[in-house]
Amino acid sequence: MSNCAIVGINWGDEGKGRMVDLITKDFDVVVRYQGGSNAGHTVINEYGKHALHLIPSGIFTAGAVNVLGNGVAVNLKSLWGEIENLVNSGVKVTPENLKISDRASIVMPYHVRMDELEELRLKDKKYGSTKQGIAPVYSDKYQKKTIMMGELLHMDYLRARLKDILEWKNLIIEGVYGAEKSDFDEVMEWVETYGAKLAPFVCDTAAFLRDAEAAGKSILFEAQLGALRDLDMGIYPYSTSSNTTAGYARVGSGMPAGSLDRVIGVVKAYSTCVGEGPFTTEWFGEEAEKLREAGGEYGASTGRPRRVGALDYVATRYGVQVQGATELAVTKMDILSYLDEIPVCTGYLVDGKEVKDFPFPALLNDAKPIIKMLPGWKCDISGVREFSELPKAAQDYVIALEEEVGCRVSYVSVGAERDRIILR
Ligand code: GDP
Repeated sequence: MSNCAIVGINWGDEGKGRMVDLITKDFDVVVRYQGGSNAGHTVINEYGKHALHLIPSGIFTAGAVNVLGNGVAVNLKSLWGEIENLVNSGVKVTPENLKISDRASIVMPYHVRMDELEELRLKDKKYGSTKQGIAPVYSDKYQKKTIMMGELLHMDYLRARLKDILEWKNLIIEGVYGAEKSDFDEVMEWVETYGAKLAPFVCDTAAFLRDAEAAGKSILFEAQLGALRDLDMGIYPYSTSSNTTAGYARVGSGMPAGSLDRVIGVVKAYSTCVGEGPFTTEWFGEEAEKLREAGGEYGASTGRPRRVGALDYVATRYGVQVQGATELAVTKMDILSYLDEIPVCTGYLVDGKEVKDFPFPALLNDAKPIIKMLPGWKCDISGVREFSELPKAAQDYVIALEEEVGCRVSYVSVGAERDRIILR
């Protein structure tokens, strides 16, 4: 028995889905433990190219059971759309290989509205929300005012709770934002329509996972976004509203305290960031446009152009530390092949002083990157499968990263397709 978490070291979009898709064959169960459909993993394999938002990337692997844990926020309509897309592409999705926690919170249409209303109110001070209702639903969860997936199996109970909750929610929608109230019957109809389709997938996944672990099954935990977006340890308030760190993997899966045998931290060979907030190594203009185009850096859920910049050792070292990464997977090395020299950030200047430790969020706006240039390799590396066959400059790029951040790189990804990977 062994378990493993695949987590993001930076802002997200590092290629976690690609890594989960690669190694699921070695696991019996894949669990997504936090987040909602506000970001996506792109996976390319024999079923084609798929953008997954909620469903674990293990769904393509025959025999693997995929779980959406209690820590996940489920938009019923989005999830049903995702299932339909997969089924239409020939992927098997049944209650045998997809199980949804009865304790996962439902993202309601009024959560999406609340998200939009708040971003509108914030105007130029907005947090860069994807407006998928994620901050409102997690806030409601802490106020004990969400509907759990398991309530779909107890509709009278759900109806009564929703009535009370909506009464409270409408006080805010109307009173605070001056917007039109959410209509109970409309919300209920939405819940009934999509709830009926999803109810067969809902079960006590915590019990399923406890039994699986006791039976010696291997479990892979899949995270959404990265360490810098973690609600507690990320760049607050430009974080997401859930815990993206590996420490939350067992909590968001409803599993008792226990260890993680491996934590694979996924790092992109350069930095990208979607949305607002400090991004110290950001590039602008033509330089940024070139990298964005080369890397296809547009959000899987939103299509938004991602902000791009140099690999940031300061942020990455912090990500490794807060994730407790036991090893790293570096992705998108192939994308850097066009550069003569590759800039990396070795430290920050904060108040005129060089710092190596990731600063408190209040100091980040004024942090300036200290940049060092590393030699590029200027050739196509996408066909390479052995580390020793990479050009020396590419090997050195990886070795410098592991030395700077204090964690071994055990995978180097040189393409989006499943087999474009170097194992070290
Ligand atoms: P995730 O949310 O961490 O899974 O990341 P995303 O799926 O949002 O973004 C990663 C993107 O990079 C996806 O489009 C992947 O198909 C792609 N990708 C992953 N690894 C590689 C790689 O090594 N090379 C290239 N060219 N693309 C990659």
